[in-house]
Amino acid sequence: MLDHPLPPKIPWVDESKCQSCRKCVARKACRVKAILAIDPGEPPFIDGNLCYGCLACLPACPFDAIVVE
Ligand code: SF4
Ligand code: SF4
Repeated sequence: MLDHPLPPKIPWVDESKCQSCRKCVARKACRVKAILAIDPGEPPFIDGNLCYGCLACLPACPFDAIVVE
């Protein structure tokens, strides 16, 4: 048995798959708005300080651009 819970797995945006959608639907799926889209036309990125590893964004992206190990 583990004494401590495992740290959450923080996903990231695979820029080779991301289509830099005008409205990132993965971002909409994130309850804490940890997916930050700064520049239109650039892939968003995930703020590891906000993300709590729920992984709801993975199935939300239609291009499988959000990945985790
Ligand atoms: S992460 Fe997915 S939904 Fe968001 S901009 Fe990239 S391809 Fe589009
Ligand atoms: S794993 Fe959850 S909290 Fe982290 S970016 Fe994805 S939807 Fe947001």
